[in-house]
Amino acid sequence: MGGFKLGKLTMRSLFSKPATVQYPFEKREPYAAMRGHVEIDIDACILCGMCQRACPASAITVDRKAGNWEINPFMCVQCANCVRECPKKCLSMGLLPTEPSVELTPVAKHKDMPAKPAAGAKAAGAAGAAAKPKPKLTPEQEARVAAARAKKEAAKKAAAVEGMEGAKPAAPAEGAAPSQEATE
Ligand code: SF4
Ligand code: SF4
Repeated sequence: MGGFKLGKLTMRSLFSKPATVQYPFEKREPYAAMRGHVEIDIDACILCGMCQRACPASAITVDRKAGNWEINPFMCVQCANCVRECPKKCLSMGLLPTEPSVELTPVAKHKDMPAKPAAGAKAAGAAGAAAKPKPKLTPEQEARVAAARAKKEAAKKAAAVEGMEGAKPAAPAEGAAPSQEATE
């Protein structure tokens, strides 16, 4: 009985189409949720490096100073961690896998980042912000601000009193020997 079943299975395998394909000569049609490779919209990227930190395969390298974003698609394991972690949502998973190649060349993108403002310019910006007129509050808002201030002051005072009490020297225990100064 067992031999008959095995023979049937062998005959069916001989004459049916194989379940696998001869990649890369034959390719399957990608399905909708297939993760083939990582794609980037470099214009939206801020070169923050979150994708590099999230990548378990160390496939991504971000050099903010040089303005470079690079991925080695042959190291990528298509986990999509980088896509989930990107704060600008500029990464996505392309459907098709990377084409086979004898040279494992990384894919590099470049973006010119604006230079950081100098320290002096930053201070001037802060001073400008400080010189801005304060927004006018409604009477209700003013009352809320005053109540919050009073609460803060009361908490501060209470903390100070507690601190003073904690710093007081402890009273000598009953029956303890008087100190030398007291006996003189
Ligand atoms: S996490 Fe997103 S924004 Fe940040 S470097 Fe990577 S791709 Fe660019
Ligand atoms: S998909 Fe996964 S392995 Fe590939 S680059 Fe992103 S985090 Fe790294």
